[in-house]
Amino acid sequence: MKILKSEAVNVAERVRLNQHKVVSHRIYDYIIIGAGSAGCVLASRLTEDPTVKVLLLEAGGKDTAKEIHIPVAFSKLFKGPNDWAYYTEPEGRLGNRRLYWPRGKVLGGSSSLNAMIYICGHRTDYDQWCDLGNPGWGYSDVLPYFKKAENNQNGASEYHGASGPLHVSNPRSLNPLSEVFVEAAEEAGFKRNPDFNGATQEGLGVYQVTQWQGRRNSAAAAFLRPAMLRPNLTVRTNVQAFKILFEGKPAALVSFQDGNVSKQERAEREIIVCGGAIGSPQLLMLSGIGPAEHLRTLDIPVHCDLPGVGANLQDHPALPVAYECAQPISLARAETITNLIRYMAFKTGPLTSNVGEAGGFVRTSTSCPTPDVQYHFAPGYFIEHGFQQIKEDAYSFGPTLIRPNSRGRIALRSSNPLDLPLIHPNYFDDPRDMQAVIEGLRIARAIGETNAFAKYRKCELCPGPGIKNDEKSLSGYIEKNAQTLYHPVGTCKMGPADDELAVVDSELRLHGVECLRVVDASIMPIIPGGNTNAPTIMIAEKAADLIKSGPRKAQQEPVLSQALA
Ligand SMILES: Cc1cc2nc3c(=O)[nH]c(=O)nc-3n(C[C@H](O)[C@H](O)[C@H](O)COP(=O)(O)OP(=O)(O)OC[C@H]3O[C@@H](n4cnc5c(N)ncnc54)[C@H](O)[C@@H]3O)c2cc1C
Repeated sequence: MKILKSEAVNVAERVRLNQHKVVSHRIYDYIIIGAGSAGCVLASRLTEDPTVKVLLLEAGGKDTAKEIHIPVAFSKLFKGPNDWAYYTEPEGRLGNRRLYWPRGKVLGGSSSLNAMIYICGHRTDYDQWCDLGNPGWGYSDVLPYFKKAENNQNGASEYHGASGPLHVSNPRSLNPLSEVFVEAAEEAGFKRNPDFNGATQEGLGVYQVTQWQGRRNSAAAAFLRPAMLRPNLTVRTNVQAFKILFEGKPAALVSFQDGNVSKQERAEREIIVCGGAIGSPQLLMLSGIGPAEHLRTLDIPVHCDLPGVGANLQDHPALPVAYECAQPISLARAETITNLIRYMAFKTGPLTSNVGEAGGFVRTSTSCPTPDVQYHFAPGYFIEHGFQQIKEDAYSFGPTLIRPNSRGRIALRSSNPLDLPLIHPNYFDDPRDMQAVIEGLRIARAIGETNAFAKYRKCELCPGPGIKNDEKSLSGYIEKNAQTLYHPVGTCKMGPADDELAVVDSELRLHGVECLRVVDASIMPIIPGGNTNAPTIMIAEKAADLIKSGPRKAQQEPVLSQALA
């Protein structure tokens, strides 16, 4: 049912005041909030036990848009009905620009509109998580969960699984420019890497993608759809959770709008928040869990003072480098009737492209112990999230900073759950971040100038001949052109109780609140050096085992207050 914004605001206010609620008679063991990468995995794994009843609530709708499933079309989803379309607050070091942050608002969450690149991250990422006081999260602990989720086209190995639900495939119709990029990188002195998720991450090559037979394999397609056939899983779409309610210490009820009434559902065992790095801290704060001072300024009663909620925000900023292409072979020519027929009939051709077909990982200085910059090569003009269009053929690639030292935060704009939260990424707050990206830009240009590209390179479009390679020119370019590479994490940090910014413990249970967990990209204490979808899926796989092996909640007293209209 469509809800008018004015109606929704009234319902939101009633939820806030806990008025006019309808308490359901249904009994669920777990309520999962958010059907994104993590929520879909959890819903699937928890309902493997037919005695366990799960309710999955998703603020967005069903994943029916064709642009979700045709890989090359993903950027056409931006700013549409399946996108939260967040904007950051003005970024001080980026000329006070407000940066656009797409996030999935649909079954599958951001895995339904991401670029499908399958990267697990560097082994030291997880060893670092473990060293920060999170036992069970070292590389050797988490590798089995990556493998459990994975169904790799190249088969099982020490590093890969081949019998999980998530299809990981080689590109079906690699653009010739992507192969040229890898040859150019070799010419510039970088190693070719045939498997970024194998023994070493470093080097350049072609990405594997989360696709199955030429279609996107989102977390919804891989995990949720098969599980939806089970009678013990209820999935509700277009339902945004507004608040978690408590009975004493434990979290017990979830409040949401349904049409023009406010409803509540009860979880007998646990409520699991999977709203992503923006949605999860927002919901916790709306429920009175977060920095007490901030909540009080918004008249939100404090249930648990947890200063880390919304803090520790980390993301991967990226810079564009693009060339006009002298040959008519780029993705600018992808959208033809012939290619559409080829796609419909055989699921091959340029419409299967994930745009960021090739790339890899480099160290910008010999003092870096691990790669600090990643490249994403697109055989087309992919600038400003694909919104900038040109008629000419082009190819683009640029440095993405994958080990940022800067930290930002998410805060509430108001106590109204329909108000999008305030996002302060704080990009380049730490000067080391600027230095790494400057080096990354120089390396990109060196690759762009190789002989391998000679017969394709017409001219450099970005940064363009007006921007020299000196530090001042490149930092000016960064200030005007840095964008997100879509990987916000860390806002409900996992850590021990004596870490003042920790929100969840190593079993992803809230510090100081019972029967409540957070399971998604927000729990990452440090952002992994690579794309974040596979790591989020791994987190949910591991969380499912932790939840299954945990003690059962004591039997609740029968609910007294039913159906208060
Ligand atoms: C454009 C784009 C490109 C990307 N490309 C890649 C890539 O190529 N490879 C890669 O590895 N990663 C990529 N990523 C990142 C990756 O997709 C995310 O890190 C991952 O999906 C995060 O998963 P999550 O479960 O934490 O959050 P999400 O998948 O975002 O899920 C959160 C879900 O919760 C719902 N929700 C939030 N609040 C509420 C509420 N109050 N009530 C009910 N529902 C709620 C949301 O609607 C959403 O469906 C990309 C992301 C984007 C946006």
